[in-house]
Amino acid sequence: MACAGLSCSHERQQAMIDRDTLIAAAKEAVSRAYAPYSRFQVGAALGFADGNIVTGANVENASYGLALCAETAAVARAMNDGKRSDLVAIAVTGGIEGVLGDPVTPCGRCRQVLSELAQLGQTDPLVWCVGSHSISEHRLSDLLPHAFGPASLG
Ligand SMILES: [Zn+2]
Repeated sequence: MACAGLSCSHERQQAMIDRDTLIAAAKEAVSRAYAPYSRFQVGAALGFADGNIVTGANVENASYGLALCAETAAVARAMNDGKRSDLVAIAVTGGIEGVLGDPVTPCGRCRQVLSELAQLGQTDPLVWCVGSHSISEHRLSDLLPHAFGPASLG
């Protein structure tokens, strides 16, 4: 656990969001992906301490470099809904044409984007990377150690 200095309680966080419910929300979000170029459809679900779930799916663009990942879309949606704290769990899944394969892990940019929201609420969310036959579980701080964040700016 790399949560030193934060005021989170792992046990408390885990109890407040149901893993299967969050994963089901991420899987459902895959169907809303707009990925005509890569065909790699991804869904993400953010779980908050009050039980609320915010989902996102990837949104590609004919100008390839402008693509938005599912996790980034979900964070933008959550923050536009006023959610700035209590992010306790994240589920990510997807695959080619939405068919799940290996567990999907957040890309580097998304780890940074997720970390910003987590740091605002001083949480270290669980991240469930979901594949067709397996789920890998991580702490966000393990996926992005020594993260740059709001406190880094002084
Ligand atoms: Zn990403």
